[in-house]
Parts: sequence; structure tokens; C-alpha cells
Amino acid sequence: MIGIFNNYLLYEDRMDSRNVSSETSRNKCAACFRQFNKMEHLVEHMRISYHSVHEPVCGNCKKHCRSYESLREHLIGPLPKQECKNVFNVRGCKFCLTLLDSPNARRVHLERCQHSGGLLTNFANLGLRDNLTLDNGYARGRQVVALACKMVGGGNDGSLDLCARVCLIDENENIIFHTFVKPPIPVTNYRYETTGVRPEYLRDATPLRQVQKKIQDFLCNGEPMWKIRPRGGKARILVGHDLDRLHLEYPAVMMRDTANYPPLMKTSKLSNSLKYLTQAYLGYDIQTGMQDPYEDCVATMRLYIRMKSQNHAVEDSPLASDPQNRNNFASWRQSELERMSPEEMLAISRSDYYCWCLDS
Ligand SMILES: [Zn+2]
Ligand SMILES: [Zn+2]
Ligand SMILES: [Zn+2]
Ligand SMILES: [Zn+2]
Repeated sequence: MIGIFNNYLLYEDRMDSRNVSSETSRNKCAACFRQFNKMEHLVEHMRISYHSVHEPVCGNCKKHCRSYESLREHLIGPLPKQECKNVFNVRGCKFCLTLLDSPNARRVHLERCQHSGGLLTNFANLGLRDNLTLDNGYARGRQVVALACKMVGGGNDGSLDLCARVCLIDENENIIFHTFVKPPIPVTNYRYETTGVRPEYLRDATPLRQVQKKIQDFLCNGEPMWKIRPRGGKARILVGHDLDRLHLEYPAVMMRDTANYPPLMKTSKLSNSLKYLTQAYLGYDIQTGMQDPYEDCVATMRLYIRMKSQNHAVEDSPLASDPQNRNNFASWRQSELERMSPEEMLAISRSDYYCWCLDS
């Protein structure tokens, strides 16, 4: 969905970049457009910036941004680039930040892009499904599931987060598992207004340990934990927000966490909340009033599918950490790099994170 039109290059833009005087453009980063007085400084910048085809890119000027948040700032504000903002106002999608061909194309696009209805399911009718069974499901491709939970409070002041409710869904937003969980220590604050959890719901609920084990087995899907590899195999990809909180035992290479996926983060260290991401990138509100983990599952799955659908150029060995690339920049002599054009340097640069488009 995203980036379908990324390759759409305005003729004027091409002319613009040629008009820049050759001396400054020689030391200008081909991705983020930062300018350097000396070529060696640009080379230094390229060694540490890990620019790649997987970064969010402005559909107008082709500037690479580290995250969707910085692209949003570039296109919408508070400090936008005026020329890009003007084009974006006419035919940009404020949810996925793509630039469409025309205002009409935008109208059509928005109908698919914005989940304006939010969740149509009536939570009251969701019920519980705690008969999670191991099955081999549909055979083609990696299976993907999303997991979320709701926390009640433990400890003297009730501030300790304890998982009291979990939900697991498949890629089509169908519930696989939805149940109350009995925390290992006493609950001191049920946080009823937001969780809807009452003491009697947890009294006979499955203990946390058992739920964790059940979910882990389901994720592994018959494969021993040590055998799980990112490619090939039956183990399932796990989508969620802030999955570390759940203390699951599962390989990190199989997790897709919307809280620490660089393109969706606020800064390189700060996460966005799921509530914010859903509002900004999917166009609807979640976590208002009484909350059901199903709602969080759906939001993370939709974000995942959107990120997975990014239309990026296919490269050999897409990651900076791939053995073939490990020393991409290091293996080149400084003098050789300094003779390259900024575009040539960008072409050998690779991402330092795993882009979810590689899952498709
Ligand atoms: Zn740069
Ligand atoms: Zn990508
Ligand atoms: Zn731009
Ligand atoms: Zn869109």
C-alpha cells in the first residue's frame, strides 16, 4: 500500500537537483540531503547512518527520513518543507503519508487506507475462546498472529502490572484465543474502569504460567525453540505492541513489535503509544473507556500489514548485518569512497534494522 508511488518522480524535481551547483551537491547526502563541507565528512556520515531503500521517503522531493514521524513533520508540520507540504495538501494521504497521482486518486486511496469505522465488532459478544489447540493451519507462507493483554495492578500501591486478560488473533482478525488469566501474585487494583476485570473473573482463570506455555507452544507450532529460523519452518511470526512486557520465551527474530520498529518510533529511543499509532496511521480511536485486548491485537495487526506492504526495491542482502555486507563501508578504502558519488554510496548502504516488507 505504502510507497506504491514512491518511484513516481516529478520531472521538475529532477531538474532541480541538477541545478544545484556541482560543488555543494558533491558533498550532499543522497538520502537525507544533509550537506557537508568536505567529502570525508559525508563518507563519515554514510558509515554511521545506514540509509537504505527501506526508509520512509518523501513522495515529492525523495528525501529519506528515519521514521514516519519525521516524514510527517516534513510533510505536515510543525516545521514542514513548504514546497512538499503544498503538493501533499493536494494529493497526499495523511495516514500512510503516500503521495498519490491526483486528488481523485487520493479519494479512492483513502477509502482503503483509513479504517474509519474502526472496529465493528461488538466487544460484549466476543466471549471467551480458551480452547487453544495446536494445528498446522493453512500451509502456505509464514503464519502471523497478534497478541495483546490487559493489565491489572499488584503490589502495595497497585502499580505493578499483572497480565489478567490475553487475546490472540490471526491475520484476518479472527480470534484464536481470548481468556482471563490468573496472576501469580494477589491483585490489589482491578482497574475496573479500563480493564472491565472483576475478582470473580480471575478466580478460576488459568494461571499465567500455563497460559504462557500454551501460547509459546502455539507460536512454535511444533518446532523446537532452538530450531526456529527467520526463514523457512512452521513457527509463527508474533505481532504486538511492547511484547517484552509479556515475558514470553520466543526468539526475537520472530517478533514484530510496533513499539520498537524504528519507522514507527517517535525518536530512536522513544516509542509511540499504540493509541497514538492507531489514530495517526490507521485513522481511528482505540482504548477509550473499557478496553478489550482484541482491539489492541487488531490495531497492531493492521499496522504490521501496512508496514509489510511497503513497496521497496528488492536488494541482495538487505541488512547491514548480513554477512555479505558486514563491512560494506569498512572494506572500502576512504580514498575510494571519497571518489564515489553520493548516489553510489547510497547504493551500497544497507539498513541496520529488519524492514517488515521483507516478510512478504
Ligand atoms: Zn544522510
Ligand atoms: Zn522495506
Ligand atoms: Zn519532501
Ligand atoms: Zn494512505
